[in-house]
Amino acid sequence: MKKEHLFKKHKGTDYQAKAEAFCEDYKQFLTVAKTERLSVEYFEAKAKANGFFNIADKTDFKAGDKVYYINRNRSAVFCVIGEEDLEAGINLVAAHIDSPRLDLKPSPVTEEGGFSYLRTHYYGGIKKYQWVATPLALYGVVVKKNGETVKIAIGDGENDPIFMVTDLLPHLASKQMTQKMTEGIPGEKLMVLSGSNPDLNAESDEVKTALLKILEEKYQITEEDFYSAEIEVVPAGKARDLGFDRSMVASYGHDDRVCAYTAFEGLLETKTPKKTAVVLLADREEVGSMGNSGMQSRFLEYFLEELKPSVRINKVMANTLCLSSDVAAAYDPMYAEVYEKQNSPIFGCGLTLLRYTGSRGKGGSSEASAEMVAKLRRIFDDNDIAYQFAELGKVDEGGGGTVAQYIANLGADVIDAGVALLSMHAPYEIAHKADIYEAYRAYVSFMA
Ligand SMILES: [Zn+2]
Repeated sequence: MKKEHLFKKHKGTDYQAKAEAFCEDYKQFLTVAKTERLSVEYFEAKAKANGFFNIADKTDFKAGDKVYYINRNRSAVFCVIGEEDLEAGINLVAAHIDSPRLDLKPSPVTEEGGFSYLRTHYYGGIKKYQWVATPLALYGVVVKKNGETVKIAIGDGENDPIFMVTDLLPHLASKQMTQKMTEGIPGEKLMVLSGSNPDLNAESDEVKTALLKILEEKYQITEEDFYSAEIEVVPAGKARDLGFDRSMVASYGHDDRVCAYTAFEGLLETKTPKKTAVVLLADREEVGSMGNSGMQSRFLEYFLEELKPSVRINKVMANTLCLSSDVAAAYDPMYAEVYEKQNSPIFGCGLTLLRYTGSRGKGGSSEASAEMVAKLRRIFDDNDIAYQFAELGKVDEGGGGTVAQYIANLGADVIDAGVALLSMHAPYEIAHKADIYEAYRAYVSFMA
């Protein structure tokens, strides 16, 4: 099947202008919502402004009602009630809002050779060498013993300091440069450089106590308070246009906030659907979806029970279609050797559909049935949505997974559907504006 660039397909219309305008708002979102908590805050505020109720404040639901549920401040469900009963099934779009990063360790503050550092443990599949010598910001919360929450956001304000992990100068790196890329930067060396002034009042040159004093003065937090903190180290800087033609967006966290944002915006366009439309934003996908905010937990089922206490989940799920909306690996001509081009998403040519992910013999993956895929083709063709079927690279090259299998385990029909990226999991990932906009259009048509 021929793949056509969407700006060419729609030439002579306002499609490109609409895609570019859509991505202006998307870039704003990426810039302010670099963590799962900040994403939940962003979407909750926007949902409220668009007439959504918190499920805790409402019990009786009728068609057209908009309702949301926040789970542990790190995952969420947004929903527009449909005309049909819940047991007729839901149209579900599930994305994730966590991204690869460095997390501070429970006891992070230390000093070495006149510098203060914050120790980290990386989260998700990163190439560690990409995180050195690049500007970093800190985001998160410190919850004190008395329950008070202190929000941390340093590194993206106009006059904020940034943070960095140092790298070895090439002059002394002859041994490092011959090491394997997996070993060149060991995980324990991902220490965030945080200060170098000594404590002027201490007997010895303690830079650690100097740092702790700053934290005490500015944020009223102590070293022990880090035990009950979630602080993420992420790339500093804004989402930016990429290229002379500004056709692409470069940003931290496209994976998977690009699908979360386009799905959420799609839901805002959903008036009174036939089937209840649900957008689920999960946490912890990058580390296997475990935990009570991850897709392996039961918060979707609990949400459905809150909507209708007598609901039979098996009936709902048997009739549910789900788009597991996650990013895909776009064909990259610089690394053509790992792709089989015919079954790879081409930039600018529309939504990527993966019937299965997994690795080496479809290992560890669910697979969408022929019947489900036929239904979806009908929906997308009727709405002139451009889609491309793909796999994650060549058969024996590697692989990966998404939340699809966990939703399939509940009994729903699930297919992976999302935006293709270049440099996935790098501090700055790249998406095409046409693909971002087409994903939004696809979700609108799916949930309508
Ligand atoms: Zn990912």
